[in-house]
Amino acid sequence: MLLDRLTVSRRVPSSHPLAGKKTWVPRMVTGGARAMAAVLRSLGIDAEAIPPSDAETLELGGRHTGGEECYPLRLTVGDFMKILEKPGTDPGKVAFFMATGQGPCRFGQYVPYVRSMLASLGFSGVTILAPTCETGYSDFGETSSLYVRSAWRAIVSSDILSKLLLKTRPYETVRGSADQAYEQSLDELCRTLEVSYESNHAQMEALQHCLLRIRNRFRTLEIEYDPGRPLIGVVGEIFCRLNTFSNDELVRRLEESGAEVWLNDLAEWIWYVNDDQFRKLRLHGKRFSLDALGAHVRNHFQHKDEHELASLFREDFCGYEEPADISEALAFAEPYLPPLGANGEMVVNLGKSVYFARKGVDGVIDISPFTCMNGIICEALYPRVSRDNAGIPIRNFYFDGSQSDLDRDIGIFLELARSYKRKKPWPHTRPLPVL
Ligand code: SF4
Repeated sequence: MLLDRLTVSRRVPSSHPLAGKKTWVPRMVTGGARAMAAVLRSLGIDAEAIPPSDAETLELGGRHTGGEECYPLRLTVGDFMKILEKPGTDPGKVAFFMATGQGPCRFGQYVPYVRSMLASLGFSGVTILAPTCETGYSDFGETSSLYVRSAWRAIVSSDILSKLLLKTRPYETVRGSADQAYEQSLDELCRTLEVSYESNHAQMEALQHCLLRIRNRFRTLEIEYDPGRPLIGVVGEIFCRLNTFSNDELVRRLEESGAEVWLNDLAEWIWYVNDDQFRKLRLHGKRFSLDALGAHVRNHFQHKDEHELASLFREDFCGYEEPADISEALAFAEPYLPPLGANGEMVVNLGKSVYFARKGVDGVIDISPFTCMNGIICEALYPRVSRDNAGIPIRNFYFDGSQSDLDRDIGIFLELARSYKRKKPWPHTRPLPVL
C-alpha cells in the first residue's frame, strides 16, 4: 500500500526512438544486465537482458566478425545476431543497449563497428542505444537524470549480490543453496528496480528494504567455513572477467578446485572513469568549469548512494572492503604504470592486484581476452608486482573461445597460492557469522 503511493506510471513518448521497440541489454554480467533492464523498464522502456551466450553465439559472432576483433565484441555480435536471426523477429522493433567510451584500446570502436556491420547486413532499422555522459545521456530525454541515478544504484546493488554469492558459495553445506539464494535475490532486486518511484528517496528506501531481506536470506544460509581455502583476487578485462561464458566459468572452477574468489566488481570501472574525467579536466585547465561542477555533483551523489546501500553489509563484508576511493588502488599502480601517464584497465588491474595482496589474498588471477592489450601489458609487469609483494603468485588466463586444459592450470596455480598462504605477511580477516 505504502509502495503504491510512492510510485508513478512512466511511458516513453510515441516520438521517442525506443517507442514500440524491445531494448536488449547485453549480458556482460548476468546480475548487472538484468538489473539494468529493470531500470530501463522503470523509465517506460520495454527492456530485457539478452539470453545467455552459447555455442550459437560463438558461431554467429565468428561468422559476422573478421577475426581481428576483441573476443568480447565477437560474443556481443553473436548474441545480437542470435536475436535478429530468430524467426519472426522484426528488426525495426529491436534496439540494443551498448556501453561505450573513449580510451586507449578498441572498446571505443565497438559501437561504430556494430552500427556499420548491421547496416551492411540490411539491419539499419535496428536502434543502438549507447548512452554516455559526454552527450548528457540525452537518449533518455527528461528522464536522463533518473536513469543515471537508478543505473548507478542498480550497479551497486547487483555488485553486492555477487559479492554475497562468492563469499558464501564455497562454504555452503547444501550444494546449490547459495546459487538459489542469489537467483531469488536477483529476482527480488529486479522487481524493486523496475518500479517507477515518485522520488529518488522513495526508490532508495525500497532498495534498502529489499537489500535487507536479501542480507538476511544469505545470513541464514548454512555454511561451514574452511580456513584452509586460499582466497584468490580476480582482476582483468571487465567483460571477460565478469562474463562467465567468455571465461569458461573460471570462478566456479576455482571454487570447485578448493578456492574462494574475490572478484573485482563493476562499480570499480565507473569510479575509474569518473576519476579519469577529473584528471582530463585538470589537464585541459577546466578544473573550475561547469563540466567540473557537474562531475563533482554526480560523484557526490554516487558516493552517497553507494554508502547508503553498501553500509547495510558492513559486518558481512568485513575483510572484503573495497578501496575507500579509487585513488587508493591507483596509488598502488604508481611504481609500475603511473596513472597520469597511462590509461585504462591495466592501471586499475595493477593497482588492485597490490591492494588485494595487502588485504591478505593468497594469489591474484588476471582474466583477459586473447590479444587484449591491457592483459598483455599487465602480464609484463606482474613479475615485478609479485616480487615487490612478498612473492604473491599472479597469473594471466587468456580466453578466445577455444579449449585449453583450464583445470590443470588452475590446479598448478592453487598449489602456488597454498604455499604462499603459509608464509604471507598480510593476514586476511574473515567476518564472524552475523545473525
Ligand atoms: S580492454 Fe582488451 S578486450 Fe576489451 S576492448 Fe580493450 S583491447 Fe579489447
